[in-house]
Amino acid sequence: MNSWRAERLSQLPAYLFVEIDRRKREALDAGRDVIDFGVGDPSDPTPQFIVDRMAEAIRDPANHRYALGVGMLELRRTVVDFFAQRYGVSLDPDSEVVVLLGSKEGIGHLPTAVVNPGDVVLAPEPGYPVYVSGTIFAGGTCHTMPLAERNGWLPVLEDIPAEVRRRAKLMWLNYPNNPTAAVAPLSFFEEAVAFARKHNILIAQDAPYCEIYFNSPPPSILQVEGAKDVAIEFHSLSKTFNMTGWRIAFAVGNREVLAALAKVKSNLDSGLFQAIQHAGIAALRGINRPEIREQIEVYRRRRDVAVAGFREAGWPVAAPQATFYVWAKCPPGVDSMTATSRVLDEADVVVVPGAGFGPAGEGYVRLALTVSEERTREAVGRIAKITW
Ligand SMILES: *Cc1c(COP(=O)(O)O)cnc(C)c1O
Repeated sequence: MNSWRAERLSQLPAYLFVEIDRRKREALDAGRDVIDFGVGDPSDPTPQFIVDRMAEAIRDPANHRYALGVGMLELRRTVVDFFAQRYGVSLDPDSEVVVLLGSKEGIGHLPTAVVNPGDVVLAPEPGYPVYVSGTIFAGGTCHTMPLAERNGWLPVLEDIPAEVRRRAKLMWLNYPNNPTAAVAPLSFFEEAVAFARKHNILIAQDAPYCEIYFNSPPPSILQVEGAKDVAIEFHSLSKTFNMTGWRIAFAVGNREVLAALAKVKSNLDSGLFQAIQHAGIAALRGINRPEIREQIEVYRRRRDVAVAGFREAGWPVAAPQATFYVWAKCPPGVDSMTATSRVLDEADVVVVPGAGFGPAGEGYVRLALTVSEERTREAVGRIAKITW
């Protein structure tokens, strides 16, 4: 019998976290005191000033209708102001900003807007799975760019074979990086823009963690001279403002590419609920408010507790400079699946195996710092008792 299911769904990469999910549920069902660093979703609430703006906006009937188009002009102007202040980059609100229903939506749809069947899309590995699935839905072919610690978790562009460069249409970058927490220096973005220009490749740089940093602010690829000729950048309010459930993000950069993305979107969605857009304006304008800065300090304290605890336990863990992830190198000789499963069985702690993000993630596990400082201390204390 034929299946109703389209064949393209079988081309999607296997979801390697199934086994861990199942065992986590078993542990919870058995009543064990599980500490979960698995999901990259902030557990702290959206700041009150944003919720208040939403509550006000939702009562206004002017916000109840289809919000057609690329986002309210006031929101796009707020994005322009944010970009000018934060990066010193000027944008045209009419042609260089598109509002998204979360950046995952834009990331998933971009290949439909720019990739022709048979085109190659370059995707970092380990990496966010949507770079691959969006490509598959658009009929493109993925070529992975392995990331390694010895290269600062940056792709080595010179290693991309000539044939792949010729066929490549789009290259995904993601800094600050999930899952490795690496930050790309502006010099890498310069190199990437020069490469893209030379080989006629569009760069899509995914930056949802650009405001979660502990030392110097990470750069935008649009700070590179002429980057708008070959690049767009995705930004999201999800992680910065604890707004993952709200679905609000934006893309900026090359106007032809953004117009193509907007064309796809106009056929699939009818815009972002305007009340959320008003809340987003309040959020972006409030980026320097103390509650936003304090959230970063919360992540910094959790990071310090986690990193110190792992090092004491004999794991050679590097302190991340950005994102709310710790990308922990496993004890010598232990693979990521074994580490994950023993940490769950023997310490009731959930981490994510690096191999689940692709083979280059082997030898590492990812922790999301979405657990309180006290529970983080408890978790690393339990992990320290395991003998490897
Ligand atoms: C969280 C995340 C996103 C998606 O963010 P949304 O705006 O909530 O869709 C995109 N890319 C990476 C790398 C992420 O970690």
